[in-house]
Amino acid sequence: MSEGADHLAEVERRIAEAAKAAGRLPADVTLVAVSKTHGPERVRELLDVGHRIFGENRVQEAQEKFPALKAEYPDLELHLIGPLQTNKARDAVALFDVIQSVDRERLAAALAKEMERAGKWPACFIQVNTGEEEQKAGALPADLDAFVAACRDVHKLPVVGLMCIPPVGEEPALHFALLAKMAKRNGLAQLSMGMSADYETAVRLGATHVRVGSALFGARS
Ligand SMILES: *Cc1c(COP(=O)(O)O)cnc(C)c1O
Repeated sequence: MSEGADHLAEVERRIAEAAKAAGRLPADVTLVAVSKTHGPERVRELLDVGHRIFGENRVQEAQEKFPALKAEYPDLELHLIGPLQTNKARDAVALFDVIQSVDRERLAAALAKEMERAGKWPACFIQVNTGEEEQKAGALPADLDAFVAACRDVHKLPVVGLMCIPPVGEEPALHFALLAKMAKRNGLAQLSMGMSADYETAVRLGATHVRVGSALFGARS
């Protein structure tokens, strides 16, 4: 087995254990394998053993890597997990199956326009800046309910859930619990939270999607 396949088995085992400990079904947690900075040969290690769900944080990098892989594996599901500029909305809609980083009105409007144009509606997560960090993307918690409503009612985006990246050095569980509360309040069923260092905690707190990079592919250079 490849190193990637080994790591995948281990991460899947831990997700299943964390889910069971929380009285949840392992199948209710989707592992998004974050392949940013790694070449297509590393993605193939996971495709070879049946994994199909991947995440990338930059449109251009994903465009270089994934069209060929998607042609070969039509059931490959690609998630955009990084900040999106409005002028890349068209490219993002064309390539990605899920967009996890919707975080402002102008972007919501641009995505809606491009989805209409393409006749393709990738599922959307609203990214929340739960730590209210200056430099970080995401809607602020205080603005969230109005923003979710605008995405749904004004822009008609297919909003399925919320996503967050907790501040470095803070207890992630507090942010995961906050995100779960905000999702519930807005009637959103899906929660994208948890990365290599904290995905088991996220699963215990209700994550439906964990985004795991280095625990699968090793450190990024
Ligand atoms: C890179 C990245 C991840 C994966 O991080 P790891 O710590 O390597 O698991 C998850 N989410 C986002 C938004 C990322 O940019």
